[in-house]
Amino acid sequence: MAKKNNSAAVSCMKEDDLIVITGAGGFIAGALARYFRKQGFTRIRAIDKKPLPQWYQQIEGVECLCMDLSNEGNCRRACQDAVEVYNLAADMGGMGFIERYRIECLRSILINTHMIESAYRAGARRYFFSSSACAYNIELQKDKNSRALKESDAYPAMAERGYGWEKLMSEMFCQEYYAERGLETHIARFHNVYGPYGTWAGGREKAPAAICRKVIEAKNENSDEIVIWGDGNQTRSFMYIDDCVKGIDMIMHCDKLIATPVNLGSDRLVSINDLVSIVVGIGGITLKRKYDLNAPKGVAGRNSDNTFIQKVLGWQPNTPLEEGLKNTYEWIEQQYKDRKAGKQTVN
Ligand code: NAD
Repeated sequence: MAKKNNSAAVSCMKEDDLIVITGAGGFIAGALARYFRKQGFTRIRAIDKKPLPQWYQQIEGVECLCMDLSNEGNCRRACQDAVEVYNLAADMGGMGFIERYRIECLRSILINTHMIESAYRAGARRYFFSSSACAYNIELQKDKNSRALKESDAYPAMAERGYGWEKLMSEMFCQEYYAERGLETHIARFHNVYGPYGTWAGGREKAPAAICRKVIEAKNENSDEIVIWGDGNQTRSFMYIDDCVKGIDMIMHCDKLIATPVNLGSDRLVSINDLVSIVVGIGGITLKRKYDLNAPKGVAGRNSDNTFIQKVLGWQPNTPLEEGLKNTYEWIEQQYKDRKAGKQTVN
């Protein structure tokens, strides 16, 4: 396979160094496995607890293992001979999931606890942890015009209940494994990632995929209405999947970002109503908006302050939202059609 010389990993690693990626049956880790394979890496071990037929992507030339990584023995097996470990496995979903299933979210701490110890024992060179903007203090996110969150805003800590606290504690594990034991760790706080091969139905989907699906359903079922969670004024920023995997690679291979959490997200703040307008425009229809004020809606406003990542990497996520949403919409539309035709789909 021809090696493209455009990745940070390529300049730091040999092509047969073993890369371990957890959660690879899901959205982001699946895209990451594809990305590294495309860069020419020949030994990639992808792991997920889901049975193989349910993986969102299976990439040729990648070793795929089905294991529950909340079990310590499985983590040992997963990390054997690893040079780099990317831990993205977590029980998670959009607001509908993380507000309702806090215990499941908290239990993901077992995954990181065992994975980081196993990576350390296996002598891995680098360890990556996928944290979240949900680790930030919720007191700073009570207004739709809240200022963008910078890395220091996680403390004093008042993270999102369940999911956010798990992320914050796991970040601390990463920082202490470096401080006490010298394991090189890297931590990115993702802000809302979207794109093809993401969850789009079933209850774990996030706002961009859910809105695309609702518009597609309305169009195909001749409905003139869309239900929006909350009053639609809540604000967020959304990062396209290609930016996310590129960012993970750059963060993992940056010596200035060892054991230092960094935002990985877009800094373009939009309201959910704005998001709906873009997607409705892509769908080419007009819909009446019905607001479900009792639905989960999360914090009032959250954006990523990209001063730090821009300073250290000279880069930040930059795919235009309209472009990313168009790709996502088209992919979900195809999934919708496939499902209707009785074909297998991602979810
Ligand atoms: P995803 O649900 O698509 O993928 C996570 C995968 O982890 C799933 O396939 C799941 O089966 C697997 N998993 C869960 N528990 C496991 C276990 N015990 N053992 C093995 N595998 C297990 O989610 P995603 O969007 O790809 O998120 C990846 C990571 O990024 C997660 O850690 C998530 O918390 C973080 N993150 C995502 C976003 C986002 O917007 N998608 C935002 C912030 C943080």
